[in-house]
This record gives sequence, C-alpha cells and structure tokens, in this order.
Amino acid sequence: MRQRLERYLDEARLHPLWDRTGGALREFWSLILPTECVVCEQADSSLCVDCAVILRRATVRPFRAEHGAEGLPEAEAGLAVSLNPAVHLFSPLPVVAAGEYAKAVAAAILAFKNHGHTDIARWLQAALAGALHDARWRLCGDYEHVLLIPVPSRGVSIRRRGYDPLGLLLGGLARRREFPAGTRVVGAVRLSRPSLGPATLVPDGLSQKSLGRRGRRRNVHGSMEASPMIRNIPKGAPCLIVDDVLTTGATIAETARVLRAAGIIVAGAVVVAATPAPRGENQATVTAFPASVEGASSEPTEKNRRVGVNSNNG
Ligand SMILES: [Zn+2]
Repeated sequence: MRQRLERYLDEARLHPLWDRTGGALREFWSLILPTECVVCEQADSSLCVDCAVILRRATVRPFRAEHGAEGLPEAEAGLAVSLNPAVHLFSPLPVVAAGEYAKAVAAAILAFKNHGHTDIARWLQAALAGALHDARWRLCGDYEHVLLIPVPSRGVSIRRRGYDPLGLLLGGLARRREFPAGTRVVGAVRLSRPSLGPATLVPDGLSQKSLGRRGRRRNVHGSMEASPMIRNIPKGAPCLIVDDVLTTGATIAETARVLRAAGIIVAGAVVVAATPAPRGENQATVTAFPASVEGASSEPTEKNRRVGVNSNNG
C-alpha cells in the first residue's frame, strides 16, 4: 500500500508542475510521508540543505576518471589526447566524471537508483549537466554535433524500480534544455535479446562484482547490440557514452564495442560519479596493455545503503 502510494506521489513529483509549485507541495508531501535525508538522516527532506550543498560542491568540478578503470576500451585514435606520445601504448577511453563515488555522492546515487528517491534527481542532473558540458567541449570541441548515447538499462531493473534512473536524469535535462549546445540523446544501443536470459546476466539485485573476473567478462561481452535508432547517427559524428557510475568501465566498453562496430566515433564517456582510482594511480598513468572487455559493470555494489555511504564502495 505504502509502496503504491509512494509511486503515485513520485509520479506527481516528476510532473513539471511540481517544480513550479515548489515548497507548498513539498511540505504537503513530507506531511503524508515523513522522510529523512539520505546522507545524514536528518528528518524532513530526501536531501537536507546542508547535504545538498555538500553534494553540489563534490560534483561541481568535473575531472578525468578513466585511470584505474581497467575495463575501459582504448581511446579513439586521433581524438584522445594521450599524455604519452608513443602510439603503441594503450590509452583508455577518456571518461569525465562530475564527482567521486564516495560519501554524500554515493549515498545520493544509491538512494536515487535503488531506494526510489527520485526527488534527488535534480541535484544529480545538475552534476551530470556539468560533466556533459565539460566533456562536450574538452573532448569534442572541434565538432558541431555530438551525440549522447546512454548505456541501456535492463528491463528487469526498470520493472523492479518502476523507473529508469539514467533515463530520468537525461529526461529532466532534455525537458529543461540543459544539454550542451550541439548535442542530442540517441538510444543507439540496446540490450541484445539473448542477454535478457538468466544464463547471461547476473540475477537482478546481485552485483557483477560477485562474479569472478572471467565471469564478469562473459557477463557483459556481447550483451548489447545496435538499436534501429543507430541509423539516425550521421556519418562522422562523434559520440559520448553516458552512464551514472563508472567502476571498471566494462559496461561502457560494451557500449563502445557496439558503436564502433557500426562505424561511430566514440570520443569518450560521461558519468555522474566514478569510483576513486586505486591509491598510487595518478592521472598520468598509461596502461601498457590493452584492457579487454572485462570487469564489473557500472552498477555499484550495494550491500546496503549505509555501507555505500561509509565505505568508498569498492
Ligand atoms: Zn543531510
């Protein structure tokens, strides 16, 4: 009963009217369903003013996050600005992240993705918008048109949650026209049908980190295919892959594989948050060997919400 009520109210909160009516509706909402801050647990709103400021500060300066994500594919030849001029060295696909997947950022994303706190979307949208603008100009500044390709979500996850988190973020930005100039979203990649079977994908709710290294590679590789919309992408237009969280980059790698197979230039990827690189990795690291499609997905490990907050989540 409560779940159904929450869903109806969520729909109301996602309505454009919600933004306009502002405080009054929100107060009404907190009267019906008392809620608490997903970061500090202070009563009355999903994200208190103090934690909203912390979240904003933690995501306001986009940074390059590809180093340490071992599952990422190689950067597009000629587009990547490699720190090492030796062309034979592997240089990972550039990834721009709004913030590190830790503390307030991790708590907010987990609550948004897995606990129905869709009212946090606007803060995450602000973070994603900043990262998109940064990537659009830094990685594709020479191009007039850049396509934004979201990594596809699993239907089973969407049904369980009742919404598609990444779709919700991008939808809000589209409605408010907050995408960088010259960009548009194209759902050019989808999950391939055989991958929907239980033998290929991890049962819903389990992290891919629960699989071994080889299992993770098997789990992701071949799980995606081009959607009919890929035909709308003009020849020579570069694209940026968009996801919510970067862990090892296997999901981004699989999306890139499909796009590149269709002759599309993958200039980089954009995420709301990236798991911090292992200690000792610095921004100048260039991996000596090509990383194949392997590693965990972009899904953060979720033991429970508080673990996500207190640790750096992997
Ligand atoms: Zn708080």
